[in-house]
Amino acid sequence: MSFYRTYRPQVIDEIDNAKVREQLLALLSKDRKELPHAYFFTGPKGTGKTTAARVIAKLFNCVKLTKSGPCGTCEQCMSISNGTSMDVVEMDAASNRGIDEIRLLRERIGLSPVSSTYTIYIIDEVHMLTTEAFNALLKTLEEPPAHAVFVLATTDAHKVPATITSRCMILRFAKASKTELLHALTRVVTAEKISISDEALERIAELSDGAFRDAVKFLEQASFHKGKIELEHIDAALSLSTGQFVAGFISYLDGKDASQTSALAQIKAAAEEGMDMRTLVTDVLLYLRANLIGQINGTVSAPVVFADREKLQRAMFLFTKAYGELRYTPIPELPLELAVIELFALPVAPMHEKQGPKAPPTGQTMPAKPVEPSAAPSAETPVKTAAAPAQQQREEPAHVSLGLLTLDKLVEHWPDFIAATKPENHSIAGVLRSSRPKSVEDGIVTIEAFYKFHQEKLADIRTKQVLADVLKKLFGEKVKIEIVLGKK
Ligand SMILES: [Zn+2]
Repeated sequence: MSFYRTYRPQVIDEIDNAKVREQLLALLSKDRKELPHAYFFTGPKGTGKTTAARVIAKLFNCVKLTKSGPCGTCEQCMSISNGTSMDVVEMDAASNRGIDEIRLLRERIGLSPVSSTYTIYIIDEVHMLTTEAFNALLKTLEEPPAHAVFVLATTDAHKVPATITSRCMILRFAKASKTELLHALTRVVTAEKISISDEALERIAELSDGAFRDAVKFLEQASFHKGKIELEHIDAALSLSTGQFVAGFISYLDGKDASQTSALAQIKAAAEEGMDMRTLVTDVLLYLRANLIGQINGTVSAPVVFADREKLQRAMFLFTKAYGELRYTPIPELPLELAVIELFALPVAPMHEKQGPKAPPTGQTMPAKPVEPSAAPSAETPVKTAAAPAQQQREEPAHVSLGLLTLDKLVEHWPDFIAATKPENHSIAGVLRSSRPKSVEDGIVTIEAFYKFHQEKLADIRTKQVLADVLKKLFGEKVKIEIVLGKK
């Protein structure tokens, strides 16, 4: 069994998230009968929501409940820990999102618990439920039987109707702090008798982006090393980018060596070497941040890049954005590539010397600068570009193609596109499976459907918006969607 599952906190005391621990302890001041019967857990992935949900289940069913919470050792607690309790129903709304599942749940809710006083229903990813399912769930929450307790968990609280959340006690799970992560890691280190340096442990905490699950996973990966684990082992185990790599990469972004092609080639090489993109982006940001702070304080520790501070800040913004997108991308290197392309597409600030024409991007279909619509008067183009503030770029009308998305790319990544649409709308994804991309021209993506009702479904204005949003997320380009009816 994995470290994460083995060392999941089992009682309130073990919960690493201090605020959640306090809130759960506060519940103990009341008699069980007076506790709320519906809880709403919200927070990013890996922050301990499922773990806390199980602790709530124990809180209701433990037979040896004390002032510090459930005992963790009685038969009820043990069966909840092992996932064998008949009175804890865990449901993943991502795969059971329809009204039928909720109907089954409602039927089940009428039944008494099998071996204890309460039945606890844990619904994970609750935001995935369909509207009908939400309505059915709402009816249940409005008149729950005395023996039913609900824990609804989600990473996207804003997608859950207020009618649902208003009936629940809300617990927010923030990203774990470094201290909390170290708390969790130390628990595993002690139990597994892992020999690891403090610096190495801290490095793991830094890399986990506030997620307990990731931190413990990293530790498990590193634990295969024989002998004491040092910082360099962590770096090697996680395929960390070396400082040299990052410095080289950054030198391609600005200054005399600046070259979009070289920067993109380096990303490609990193991906082929199996480097972790998250680590790579983090290291790039750490480097840029050191530079920015250094420039402000007049104590640059690293060689100065981006003497143009506005551009430096813009680069940091783009790489931060890329980091966020790493979670959803089907192609790990894509967000970083897009950040580079966007950075090179930046208009030249008027006060600076005009940049010479960029080397034509070989093997890349993306032009270095946004392509003006064909009707644009050519003589005015440079003036317009030079004066345009960075912000204006993001508000370009849909028909201005950046050339990031081509038909070839869309055909190649059509399955990825369908997969990315699925969490947004299941049935659209189904329809896309029997449709195909027809053309990508001037920022208009034309999709060919082969049945009239497919065409109608996809042509719905909200559907088109979903499709455009997903394409933007995947390929970084704002496009318009057209649907045509093709012949089979
Ligand atoms: Zn117990």
